[in-house]
This record gives sequence, structure tokens and C-alpha cells, in this order.
Amino acid sequence: MYCENYREMISPYIDGMLTENERAILEKHVLDCDECKNELEEIKFVTEHCHQLEKMPLPVDFKEQLHSKLVNIEGIRHNSRNSS
Ligand SMILES: [Zn+2]
Repeated sequence: MYCENYREMISPYIDGMLTENERAILEKHVLDCDECKNELEEIKFVTEHCHQLEKMPLPVDFKEQLHSKLVNIEGIRHNSRNSS
């Protein structure tokens, strides 16, 4: 099996949708494969945090804050380009 095949099992694995046999296959693979292990941990992390976020809406000005941060970064880039 290719890593892609294992990746497709990760999400159902976290949701507890895999058979015992499939779980064993995936668990064995992530012991040998760092990439799939990272993928599994990432999806697990995101899944767990998504459940928390559902109860906790983002602040209204979240997008605005993000935007002004991005504008600042752009401004710094422009300034450094002009000064050199
Ligand atoms: Zn892999």
C-alpha cells in the first residue's frame, strides 16, 4: 500500500470508523512512516480543536486583526525594499 492509501484511513481512524484489522494496519505503518505519523497527529489535533471551537466562536474583529497584521508585514517589506 502507498502512503496515500494510509492517509485515507487516518480520518476514519480518528472517528473510530475503522475495523480492528484496519486500525492495526495503520498503527503499524505510522510506526515506520514519520510523514503519515505527522499527518495523523495533525488531523487528530485539528479534529480535537474543532470540537472545542464549535462551542467558542471567533471574536468578531478576528479577521480585522489578521488583516492589519498582514498589512503591517507588507508595509515592512516595502520599507526595507525602499531603504536599500
Ligand atoms: Zn506513510
